[in-house]
Amino acid sequence: MAHCRKQLVSILPSASCNLNCRYCYNPTFRKIKPEHQRIDIDFAIAGIRDFFDSNESRMIRYYSAGEPSIAFEEMKIIRDEANKMAGGDLRVELQTNGCFNEEVASWVDKYSDVVWISYDGPQEIQDRNHLTKAGTGSHAIVTKNIREFVKNKKMQFGVRATVDPIDFHRLNEILDYFKSLGIKYACLASVFSSTALGSDTKKLRLLDFAKEFAKSFHYAQSIGMFIQTHLIFNFDEKVKIACRACTPCPHLTPDGYVTCCDETSLGPGYLPGLLQELTYGKWDPRTKKIKYFPEKIKRIRVRNICNLKREECKTCSILENCAGGCIPKSFYVTKDMYTPSEEVCEATQYLATKIPLNQGRFPFLHS
Ligand code: SF4
Ligand code: SF4
Ligand code: SF4
Repeated sequence: MAHCRKQLVSILPSASCNLNCRYCYNPTFRKIKPEHQRIDIDFAIAGIRDFFDSNESRMIRYYSAGEPSIAFEEMKIIRDEANKMAGGDLRVELQTNGCFNEEVASWVDKYSDVVWISYDGPQEIQDRNHLTKAGTGSHAIVTKNIREFVKNKKMQFGVRATVDPIDFHRLNEILDYFKSLGIKYACLASVFSSTALGSDTKKLRLLDFAKEFAKSFHYAQSIGMFIQTHLIFNFDEKVKIACRACTPCPHLTPDGYVTCCDETSLGPGYLPGLLQELTYGKWDPRTKKIKYFPEKIKRIRVRNICNLKREECKTCSILENCAGGCIPKSFYVTKDMYTPSEEVCEATQYLATKIPLNQGRFPFLHS
């Protein structure tokens, strides 16, 4: 389903995490000032109100620069206030590492309509990738929570698996494992390395991932599952913009900024310079209002199919099923939000030869 259908306001309540994952894409959270660790509840409520005033959607989403449930008390208050604003008709999505106790699990089970847990597969893989602060594996507690959520018929539940290149050949085995737990939906992505985080982008091996993903896409359907990846999230429906970031949909950061994307989960004080382009508002605790930056909003909105700067895009036959793809996945490499990277382009084009386009909407929106 066209990713831009996912119209919601994302609240990033916490900047801390209870895990210490091997490939954490966001190590900056370890140096965050104490006053930026938790969202100001007044800011969250103001951001939700502004969003509801300008958008028909009544959906909020919890995500985080760390793990949202670290700020569980704030999450409960914000959800209740948002539900009042929505006239009791609020929808809630949560993206989490799934490492929480029964009290949190029971709240999630009761109030969430959509839940995505970062979960990489069988115990050996999960415990290798997702470590606790004590250095132990997280598989047991996360799997316990997953087993409960898959029973919830009112919840759309899925897992978000990050795949290390050493596991590319194991995608079907990973899917079999998910299936054995009753999981129907999964979003898979290769480990995201970036120049911004000091990694070598050549190690991304995105095309190798795409080749394995294409095989597993069809395998998943044969076992009653459906899988996605960020490279195909608009393969079922033609679009003008790649995703909600280009609307822009607000992401309220714990340090008081409004950004348009999950990967700008903190404000300019913590972001690599180029990503600051994706910040378009700032909370003023004195006036209790959010100041928006119209010039920034304009620049984000023109990231559409008419303005992509990669020369090939002008004549690309899948332009409207790509629309330039996920912004930061290319931005880190090309240093320009309008220019998709060669690797992303190559992997997307490959997948378009293996996965049929525009055959009816996918059953869920990408995480
Ligand atoms: S759960 Fe996410 S934020 Fe926390 S350590 Fe793992 S990758 Fe980093
Ligand atoms: S597949 Fe490549 S050329 Fe085609 S629209 Fe996407 S980035 Fe541009
Ligand atoms: S991470 Fe990519 S898909 Fe997600 S909001 Fe940002 S640009 Fe869109």
